Amino acid sequence: MTTSTWETTTTNAAQTEQLAERIGRAIRGGEVIELISDLGGGKTTFTRGLVRGVGSTDPVASPTFTLSKVYQAADVTVHHFDFYRLHEAGIMADELAELFDDPKGVVIVEWADVVQHVLPDTKLTIDIKQTPSGDRRFTFHCPEPMTYLLEAVQQ
Ligand code: ADP
Ligand code: MG
Repeated sequence: MTTSTWETTTTNAAQTEQLAERIGRAIRGGEVIELISDLGGGKTTFTRGLVRGVGSTDPVASPTFTLSKVYQAADVTVHHFDFYRLHEAGIMADELAELFDDPKGVVIVEWADVVQHVLPDTKLTIDIKQTPSGDRRFTFHCPEPMTYLLEAVQQ
């Protein structure tokens, strides 16, 4: 599958939320987004902005101890997973995979290593790197069918 790569930098959490909010406004439902970074990289901050962008007022917090959280918007439901330090996904992998078939569901996954085998090929992968100055360098790996999400942040 053809994948486009695009990079951008944010200098604070508010900017990361704004970036993600633009993605959120372009969400159609059915998307899978994988967020990759070290701890404190900004994955949950990004999710907060995206959830606001889809029009949900639900509070976004790290689901580190609950594995998943759900945020409701008018048109879509955002499922937010965090598999930090989970060594085996077990039944969670099946539950996750079932969500991919829901055209009104949006799936966001932090620390997706243990569920990598069930993730669809058509997913937006966002890699976040902390720079020495504390900025966040975002690299978007966007498959062709999800180009509309990239266009939302490039314009
Ligand atoms: P993760 O989910 O990747 O562990 P969080 O989003 O929970 O990361 O935490 C990121 C932390 O870094 C927050 O405390 C946030 O305020 C801070 N921060 C500083 N600069 C940025 C930035 N440019 N983007 C996102 N978060 C930032
Ligand atoms: Mg997090």
